[in-house]
Amino acid sequence: MSRFWSPLVHTLTPYVPGEQPKLTNLIKLNTNESPYGPSPRALQAMRDAADDTMRLYPDPEAAALRAALAKRVGLTPDCVFVGNGSDEVLAHAFQALFGHGDPLLFPDVTYSFYTVYCGLYGLPYRQVPLTPDMRIQVEDYTGPCSGVVVANPNAPTGIALGLDDIKRLLEMHPDRVVLVDEAYVDFGADSAVTLVADYPNLLVVQTFSKSRALAGLRVGFAFGQPDLIEALVRVKDSFNSYPLDRIAQAGATAAVEDEEWFQKSVQKVIASRTALASGLQALGFEVLPSQANFVYIHHADRDAAELAANLRERAIIVRHLRGARTASWLRITVGTDQQCDKLLSALRDILRRNT
Ligand code: PMP
Repeated sequence: MSRFWSPLVHTLTPYVPGEQPKLTNLIKLNTNESPYGPSPRALQAMRDAADDTMRLYPDPEAAALRAALAKRVGLTPDCVFVGNGSDEVLAHAFQALFGHGDPLLFPDVTYSFYTVYCGLYGLPYRQVPLTPDMRIQVEDYTGPCSGVVVANPNAPTGIALGLDDIKRLLEMHPDRVVLVDEAYVDFGADSAVTLVADYPNLLVVQTFSKSRALAGLRVGFAFGQPDLIEALVRVKDSFNSYPLDRIAQAGATAAVEDEEWFQKSVQKVIASRTALASGLQALGFEVLPSQANFVYIHHADRDAAELAANLRERAIIVRHLRGARTASWLRITVGTDQQCDKLLSALRDILRRNT
């Protein structure tokens, strides 16, 4: 307890990020980064941006980046918002769109930052349980609410909803915003961006951190009708009118334009995920059907925390989340094929030794 802190700070339970280890010889499969480097065109654009113009403030509207993102999905730039990672975009959205007094609805197993934003902005919320097989059931998202947030695919399960279910949510709550957090959508799920033109209450949030391999750049974005985007801009301009620096704007714009690199690297991850899932099943793990760049796995006879510790001793780090529904599961990022093979042989060895 500090006498200097605002009362609010005493009440916060901040998000605990996945470990970013100092050791470089680890196989790092714990925070869903890409195992491949970013687009070479993006890297070149960042190098080119690091010149004398760095003395000038960046474009506060990130016009080039928003135009590139809009063009790719067939919307206009006034339907696009960008921020410093999708974490910041989500933070602004929670503040701008969910302050109606009723509880915000989101699943009880999902991205754990959502409860943190609710704490930060004093938003009431209700977590809706997943089904026993860890799925989101949209019919359960009824009743008065200030909005609905779903990660699609969900994290940490990797299971995706179809667009019919997203439409149902949008139609169940026409006067509330449905925020679809699509951090992992590019690895096989259908994006709700195609619904933006028809649904004024839809906000779709995406990121450069996963499928674009630019977690280090911190760029996220949202698609929605101009009315919703204006609310986000108002909050942004009341907080930090320059969230994206010059290098981030240049690198992200070039990344959006390198469609060939993007398609190739996403396809590689999807192929590795299929092989990894069958390898894990062959070892006796239950593997949820993932549309993301990670798999969520469970072993009937093994303690998940212990498995994570055993892997760590072998220089492989994966994510174990505490919590009633998650404690017996491990979330493992899809690495390169070589990393996945090392993971599988480490697990084979651990399971053999502990029998
Ligand atoms: N949403 C979900 C579901 C995530 O898992 C993450 C990454 N941890 C984020 C958003 C935030 O990603 P970033 O801030 O890197 O864009």
